[in-house]
Amino acid sequence: MQLHSISLPLKAIIMRETHKGSCLCGTVQFEIQATFKKFFFCHCSHCRKGTGSAHGSNLFAFDADFTCSAGEEAIKSYNVPSSRHRRSFCESCGSPVPTYDRENSFIVVPAGSLDTPVSAEPTAHIFMGSKANWDEKLEDVTKFDELPK
Ligand SMILES: [Zn+2]
Ligand SMILES: [Zn+2]
Repeated sequence: MQLHSISLPLKAIIMRETHKGSCLCGTVQFEIQATFKKFFFCHCSHCRKGTGSAHGSNLFAFDADFTCSAGEEAIKSYNVPSSRHRRSFCESCGSPVPTYDRENSFIVVPAGSLDTPVSAEPTAHIFMGSKANWDEKLEDVTKFDELPK
């Protein structure tokens, strides 16, 4: 017990990060204090529909504080019926924003909604069995720094 009372607060200070984020139109502005435990690229069909892309890129934390400095009332949520899949978004621009369970301090943060750098390294690609048929060797596709001429 004695050891824990010394080591735990120190660990919390080192690992808990503060982040700022916003939606595409700027209506929703938020701040998060959390220790991100997982950073998943999820290729399931719900995440593909919900993002319109190859995968969701979500950070997960179980010790999160989440505060909105603007636009809290613009955050809408959708639960996929008979699933645990829930996505939150700005009602003005549709951008994904964090889904927060205040009671359990649990948060799912779409990494692209953050305006601050993410130090957590991606944990894994998950639900690869559900990936899109064009989601194949994407790292090998020709790259341009900007829109090609
Ligand atoms: Zn917005
Ligand atoms: Zn998913």
